[in-house]
Amino acid sequence: AKYWILTKHFNGFPKDSDFELKVEELSEPKDGEVLLEAVFLSVDPYMRPFSRVRMKEGDAMIGTQVAKVIQSKNAAFPVGSHVVARCGWRTHTVCEVAGLIPIMPDWPEDVSLSLALGTVGMPGLTALYGIEEVLGLKAGETLLVNAAAGAVGSVVGQIAKIKDCKVVGSAGSEAKVAFLKELGFDEAFNYKTVTSLEEALKKASPQGYDCYFENVGGPFSTAALPQMKDFGRIAVCGSISVYNDTTPQTGPYPHLTMIFKQLKMEGFMQSRWEHKHPESLKRLMGWVKEGKLQCREHITKGFDNMPAAFMGMLKGENIGKAVVAV
Ligand code: NDP
Repeated sequence: AKYWILTKHFNGFPKDSDFELKVEELSEPKDGEVLLEAVFLSVDPYMRPFSRVRMKEGDAMIGTQVAKVIQSKNAAFPVGSHVVARCGWRTHTVCEVAGLIPIMPDWPEDVSLSLALGTVGMPGLTALYGIEEVLGLKAGETLLVNAAAGAVGSVVGQIAKIKDCKVVGSAGSEAKVAFLKELGFDEAFNYKTVTSLEEALKKASPQGYDCYFENVGGPFSTAALPQMKDFGRIAVCGSISVYNDTTPQTGPYPHLTMIFKQLKMEGFMQSRWEHKHPESLKRLMGWVKEGKLQCREHITKGFDNMPAAFMGMLKGENIGKAVVAV
């Protein structure tokens, strides 16, 4: 088996020397266990902030993969079946089956299993819960989402269109802005090239925003809050613009805006609604099959390229979900 370890805790933006590729011999699976072979591995923003709290130096990198069962001593997980597994950055894993999620039995043959890491997986669930459980988005409302061309953001915008809302998205390149238009976003802009975020937000929706799906934080957030309508709702999903900061950001805190506009802001993690995952994944797959959710992926080939894929995603090289195909 090959696996990637974190050699040193990240300091600022991750670098090649923070990772090391290791090789080990695995023992045979014991009764009840399986041997998994990774097919697709996910690289996600959370790996950056969670590395501090969930990993020690020398630990294998955390992460989720779609894996094939290649040896089985557990009848519920036959050889040849596929699972979503939180095994980390590993090509092969011998493990117990607790925590393994079998791929839906009726997964369509023409839909790539990699979507179980994206639109029909954790990022898709995040988009759905942010919209329905946190924002309570209603037809006719205007929604703003940033990092909109990514795994979560692209699903957020499309679900909001399914719900007959006006959707404004921001992303970091012209190609991404064109992609958002293809997805049916009403307005999209490149936050890197606009002269003023405030003006761009005003121009995209002069009446303001009912809901804001926050993936980025930092200065974008500072510019977005004053553009909210009174009683606007904000779902704080992520804050990718600060994940690589070496010193925590301080202010400006938008308390006055929050008060005068009587805004409601709620942070969330998709795991809060774990009990709903099976039915929610079915709904997401339903929309994929109906063609209402387009699924773009940015696929990097080769397990040896895991760190490059991860750092590339943090830099914004991906349109859609960043995935590694072994
Ligand atoms: P993406 O697929 O969106 O990839 C990350 C993107 O972030 C990049 O493509 C880049 O796009 C953008 N980005 C990077 N640096 C900056 C920056 N300084 N300012 C603005 N944008 C930046 O990742 P995900 O869809 O997986 O995640 C999106 C957000 O959702 C993250 O904040 C993540 O932590 C959060 N998240 C939260 C979950 C939860 O349960 N709360 C679960 C899953 C994700 P661009 O070119 O546009 O800059």
